Amino acid sequence: MELLKKTAVEIRKALLNKEVSAVELTEETYKRIDAIEAKVGAFNSLTKEFALSTAKKVDEKIQNNEELPPLAGIPLALKDNINLKGYKTTASSKILENFVSPYDATVSVKLKENLIPVVGKTNLDEFAMGSSNENSAFKKVHNPYDLNKVPGGSSGGSAASVAALESYLALGSDTGGSIRLPASFCGITGFKPTYGRVSRYGLIAFASSLDQIGPFGRCVEDVANLYFAISGHDKKDSTSLNMPVENPLNTLKNDIKGLKIGVIKELLTDDVDEDVKNAVMNAVKVYEKLGCTVKEVSLPLLKYSIGIYYIVATAEASSNLARYDGVKYGYRTQNPQNLMEMYTKTRKEGFGDEVKRRIMLGTYALSSGYYDAYYKKAQQIRRLVKDDFDKVFKEVDVLISPTCPNTAFEMGSRNDDPIKMYLTDVGTICANLIGAPAISIPAGFDKTNMPIGIHLLTDCFKDNLLLQTAYNFEKETDYNQKIANL
Ligand code: GLN
Repeated sequence: MELLKKTAVEIRKALLNKEVSAVELTEETYKRIDAIEAKVGAFNSLTKEFALSTAKKVDEKIQNNEELPPLAGIPLALKDNINLKGYKTTASSKILENFVSPYDATVSVKLKENLIPVVGKTNLDEFAMGSSNENSAFKKVHNPYDLNKVPGGSSGGSAASVAALESYLALGSDTGGSIRLPASFCGITGFKPTYGRVSRYGLIAFASSLDQIGPFGRCVEDVANLYFAISGHDKKDSTSLNMPVENPLNTLKNDIKGLKIGVIKELLTDDVDEDVKNAVMNAVKVYEKLGCTVKEVSLPLLKYSIGIYYIVATAEASSNLARYDGVKYGYRTQNPQNLMEMYTKTRKEGFGDEVKRRIMLGTYALSSGYYDAYYKKAQQIRRLVKDDFDKVFKEVDVLISPTCPNTAFEMGSRNDDPIKMYLTDVGTICANLIGAPAISIPAGFDKTNMPIGIHLLTDCFKDNLLLQTAYNFEKETDYNQKIANL
């Protein structure tokens, strides 16, 4: 059990010193999963054969004193909307319940190259649509800090698995905050890289201009290592950035004296919980102590982010999800009377309520007569939001805000009010709209001992500066070291 509490950086030392083998580590992880998974619900399926065979390869290399990639042998949980060849990829939807991936996502190829054992596929909101993980067609994920509370979504299973010591690392996807929000609710670190840094090939598409895969971990260095392992140009993804990726470890531990930090005024309103506000102000003090200059900045158009997002994301989703028609793959209704009934019944029975809501909203926004009024307008304002950020980045290097106005909430408490649920993402969505990198790191606990996350954001392509800024905060504090008592 003590082994499971370590970070990947620490475990690597134990592996190289032969204090533990990679196979033992993987087996320990599965013991933990067996012991607590019924309470947490983080995994849709396990990938034991793959994990153990990868761990075995790592042990052979250690025996032969061969070079090992930095995260080799360290158990990782993979969000169940990322393809791993030969295993199920369900996106937590009934429509893909029995779909077995015939190919690897590019990130899965990279995990294999880096000899990282994937222990299982993690639960999510159906098709990554949600903020609480309550939209999974299969089961709910519980927050390891309080099992009656949500873990955040949509990558709730990935975040909960790391927080519950069922994995050291995880991958999630983030369209409007789905990595950063659950990281913040579960007291871990979650990073959404610059759009295009990590290939989307093999990620089940939700909203293609916003989707990005990224890492979870228990410390910034683990997240930086995993980001480096999965990033880079990919010919198979036309929006992948064709730029070299510099290793974040080259600068991660450099100091940040003189860095200019902006506190986003619009994200520290009265709607933000007192404890969360205090955590941000406390972080500001830490940064000042580290030699940064901090000032308030204003992004007046930020208030339109959620509105823009729910038009752009739903429009893209309605188009992306058109492929689930009962013909090509996935679920098909039984005994339809004709082709049209086959389509409609398949989609009616296969999709959950939230997914249907999004498809309807998106179809409406794209339909003739409404396209100009909604979709085109949303894209135009999206551009203006980006201009707002460009202006602010002439004055400061990094922006700070709460990841979410509140900490994890009770299960079921926001289900009747989709708008209230959508507002959970007020602080995270802007990063996806403008393509910028952003990270949530542990920064405190509220009165009920639930974790609080702070959100850092830099201009596009400054992923390494962002990680460095996060690392410097972590080094000065110990919020990331607390482990949920399960
Ligand atoms: N919560 C947002 C939504 O429901 C974002 C989800 C995500 O980032 N995948 O769409």
